[in-house]
Formats: sequence, structure tokens, C-alpha cells
Amino acid sequence: MSYSPAHWRRVGEETRRMVTEVPLYRDRPVPPGDPAQVDQWLKQVPPVGKRELRRGFPRSLLRENQDLNAAMRDERVTLLATSGTTADRLQVIWEWSWWDPQEREAMRLNARIAAAMSDASYREAVLTTPACGAGTCHFGSQTAAERSIDGILFFNESADPTHWTDRECERMLREWCEFAPRGVEADPAYLAIIARAALKRGVRLPSPEFITLTYETTTQAMRRDIARAFDAPLFQLYGATEAGVLFMECEHGRLHPNEQHSHVDLVAVPGSGLARVLVTTLGRAWMPLLRYDIGDVVRVAESRGCACGLKSDGPLLERVEGRQSDCVEVRGETVTPLMLDDAVHAELGAAATIEQWQLAGDTLLVVDPESGTSAARAAAAVEAVLRRRIRGERVAAVAPEASGKYRLVKH
Ligand SMILES: [Zn+2]
Repeated sequence: MSYSPAHWRRVGEETRRMVTEVPLYRDRPVPPGDPAQVDQWLKQVPPVGKRELRRGFPRSLLRENQDLNAAMRDERVTLLATSGTTADRLQVIWEWSWWDPQEREAMRLNARIAAAMSDASYREAVLTTPACGAGTCHFGSQTAAERSIDGILFFNESADPTHWTDRECERMLREWCEFAPRGVEADPAYLAIIARAALKRGVRLPSPEFITLTYETTTQAMRRDIARAFDAPLFQLYGATEAGVLFMECEHGRLHPNEQHSHVDLVAVPGSGLARVLVTTLGRAWMPLLRYDIGDVVRVAESRGCACGLKSDGPLLERVEGRQSDCVEVRGETVTPLMLDDAVHAELGAAATIEQWQLAGDTLLVVDPESGTSAARAAAAVEAVLRRRIRGERVAAVAPEASGKYRLVKH
């Protein structure tokens, strides 16, 4: 580890306050006073998962002397539920003064984004599930002005993009043209649908200076169709509502840690370069997290250095592979959702027209309006990786979960 002594001192001080003040962590050993020993201590602290955060919420996560009701009345914090399947859904104490600065700072780790954001004419739009854009709700029919907060326009107002009507698509395309965002934050599945709608209608959308992809795993088909519609670089922004932004992709394709706001431990899982992500939040008054397992598997970059020149003390990632619960063990090795996506696209090649897939049990559902043979070929590719019989089925659409997110693997 190449973290500075100052970083370890900060981690030591903040975790000491967590152990002293937060009921959920009260039975953890107190961190050592010597910053050089904090790393070793932290590795022994048992992780917490979503289940532990849900148990006793919010009381078990409140620091002594914190008055949640008063903070909510003053609008310093708000309670909100994360998206996800029922088993994954969490309530979060959302702290406005923490969220925004840590997200902005993460974005600025990318030099191109930093330059765009510093321009006086910078304006941003968000395309995701209406429930999870910045802790506000945009369900229903609202005007563009009603869907704008601090100059950020939230395009979407209905939960299931599979059933966006022509009218809804056309409204979003029109708003995109009128607003001409310079930066866009998007769920890749949603943006791919808008990209296809624009291409189909021959609408040329003004390209932003950058697009950040977040909220769910980006497949090659999503990336391909987004790139066809927009002449803008795509960057992964990796985080979670309950944990903040943990990593930001730079112009050289590496994800750098947002280390002023969180400390990340990587725990290896079987398979080369794969790890789980345990996060300890920094600088957060409400709902601090101590070794929280975010539930994803990532691929760790081999080198700690990066051509972009940004020095990061923490680990760099190559990509986010998908949810751990969507991974499959094959002969002791972890197969991630993106590894299945790689296999599908390796089989279908550069001319692939597949738009979406989902492995549901032993059936690979494939959405491909152009090809009647890709489902069987993609299934054979997945079968070879998983070493079990997989049936391919061409379908018109794959429905998202109730949360509005798509799942790549359903056991
Ligand atoms: Zn870099």
C-alpha cells in the first residue's frame, strides 16, 4: 500500500469516532493510535453488508448526539431508498452537504471533465430512473423546469424504459436538443435506448463534452449504440447512493479512487485480478460506513501508475465487472456478468446487432431486432464459459426490475 501517513491518520481518527459514536460499530476494536498500524487493524474489522445497514435503521447508524428529526426539519438530511431489487434496497440518510462536493470532486479527477465543468456555460443533464436522480422524485408529468435542480435537467419521468412511448422518447430527444447539455450523467441502459431512438429517427443530438455512465453495468452493446449517437467520450463513474462516488474513470481508461472521501479495501475473489470493494467513508457526518461491502466485483488494474498523470495512493481499477450476486462460480473461478458479455461479443463479432441480453437460469434471453441467429450463437458462447447447457431465446424485450434497473444474470 502506498497511502500517505496523513491518509492513515485521517482513517484512524474517523474510524475511532465511528467505533465510539455509532451503535452499529460499537463492538469493533478501537483503532490503534499509530497511523502505521491502522492498515493492519482495518483488515481485521468485520465487513458490514446491506443486511447490517438495514437492521436497526436509522438508530443503529446515528452518532450519539445526532438528532435525525431536527436535521430532517432543517433539510440538512433526507431519507431516501436506493434502487435495487427488494433484497438489495436500502434506506439511506442522505446528507446534502456531503453528497454534492464528493461527487463533483470525483468528476474532476478526470481532466477532460474538470475542464468542461470549469467553463461558465457548463450545464448538465441526468438520464436514469426517475426515483434515483440526486435524491429527488420525478415520476409523472412535469415540465422541464420542474425537473431541473441547480441547473441540472433530469430527462426521465417514468420507471420502465422498455415501455417508453414514442411520445416520451420524442419529448426527451426534443429536450436534449433544446437544452444541449455539456455534461451528461446516465444509466447506460437508458442512454442506449435514447441513442437507438435518435438513430432510428435520424435525429442528430448535440454531443456533450463528456458522458458519465453510472447506476448499472455497461455492456458492449450499450457502449456501441451510445457511441454511434454521440461524438463524446464515455467515462465510468462508479459509486452507490449509500456510499458516494468511489472511483472515476480517467481519459486513459483507468478508474481512480475518490480518496478524499472514502478509503477502499479490495478483497480478492477467485479469478485473476478480481476483487470485492469494501468502503470506509471519510468526512461524512451522517451514516458513516466502516468496511461496507458494496456488493460488486471489480477488475483491478495491474499497474498503480496511469498515463493520465493523476497520482492516486489507492488502487486503480480496470473496470466494474458487475454485482457479486450475479457472478457464477465455475470450477473455483468467478465468472462475472461482463465476462459473459465479453464471450457473447467475441462470438458475434464487430457486426453484432444484439441490443440486450439476460441470463435467466439456463436460458439466455437475447434482444436483437436484426438477427434471428444471434440468440443461439450467444447462448453457445455463454455455455462454453459456464460449462453447462444454456438455451438461447430471442425475445422482443427484457423487462427491468421494479427498481428500473436491468439485471444481466438472474439465478
Ligand atoms: Zn488515469
